[in-house]
Amino acid sequence: MLKKTQYICGICGYVYDGEDFSKEDESYRCPLCDHDIHAFHERSFEHEVNLATDEYHQVIKEANKK
Ligand SMILES: [Zn+2]
Repeated sequence: MLKKTQYICGICGYVYDGEDFSKEDESYRCPLCDHDIHAFHERSFEHEVNLATDEYHQVIKEANKK
């Protein structure tokens, strides 16, 4: 069961794929939609259960492929 905290772009759904999001500086931009770091928000898989929208399910599917 994954419990790792992830960061996701609230605009396009891109899941941060780097080492440590907290170490990224203000100049970090979403590689997909080019929004700035403030578009990202913290999320956890546990939390997803309560946010059972199609969009979130898609994101989890993508994340589990890795
Ligand atoms: Zn994005």
